[in-house]
Amino acid sequence: MMLQIKSLSKSFGNQRVISDMDFTIKKGEVVAVIGPSGSGKSTFLKTINQLVKPDFGIMHLNDKEYDMAKIKESEATDLRKKIGMVFQNFGLFSHLDVLGNITLGLEKVHGFKKEAAISREKELIEVVGLSGKEQSFPNQLSGGQQQRVGIARAMASNPDLILFDEPTSALDPELVGEVLSVIKTLAKAGNTMIIVTHEMKFAKETADKIVFMENGEIIMEDSPEVLFSEKAPERIMTTRKTGG
Ligand code: ADP
Ligand code: MG
Repeated sequence: MMLQIKSLSKSFGNQRVISDMDFTIKKGEVVAVIGPSGSGKSTFLKTINQLVKPDFGIMHLNDKEYDMAKIKESEATDLRKKIGMVFQNFGLFSHLDVLGNITLGLEKVHGFKKEAAISREKELIEVVGLSGKEQSFPNQLSGGQQQRVGIARAMASNPDLILFDEPTSALDPELVGEVLSVIKTLAKAGNTMIIVTHEMKFAKETADKIVFMENGEIIMEDSPEVLFSEKAPERIMTTRKTGG
């Protein structure tokens, strides 16, 4: 297992958002997380890289054990270096151009020398199909292009695991395809990824495993073949149709 989480729990005030949840993903695997709005999907992702501290949870990442509720900030920083994240609203630095957005973390967090950071940026910009856009600022790019920068940035340091939180839900429909296609390419290249998405066709085609969350729990997890079959429980079928 690349990542194994046991007994993950998180409440906000007296609202239980994640309830004693177990989760595993193997190296090279792609797991799609689906489920209705408010079921705890984003919170789940954020506990993995300590953007949200859970109340309880034991995590193994590449054989290293973490007590998720008690992790120190220095250790959390270390953990975040191994985990890339792509946000719904891109999360780019508006005052930096594409080059700056991708190289900043490499230099400041990962200790790359400027030349090495730029050379890595060049590789990534090609992977996400944005050659020639290095000097553009986020507000000069379409949403689809901005999200591709977000993906390049998340991939920059070659993380062990990449988390995607509804990467296309802020996009105009005509721009969704270009972003899903980049994610699909990265999936085929063997990257380990957890993708929260409402794009059911994409999940079915791309994921090795689908996890269905409801009320902070995993209600069902299985291969796309099983989870998208007519045998799936009624409420999963409904979520699939409405997109949660
Ligand atoms: P999903 O991503 O599945 O839509 P979330 O993880 O965003 O669900 O949210 C699950 C529940 O937790 C929601 O009821 C939401 O309002 C609540 N919640 C999320 N983040 C916070 C927070 N920082 N403070 C208080 N409540 C929160
Ligand atoms: Mg969410």
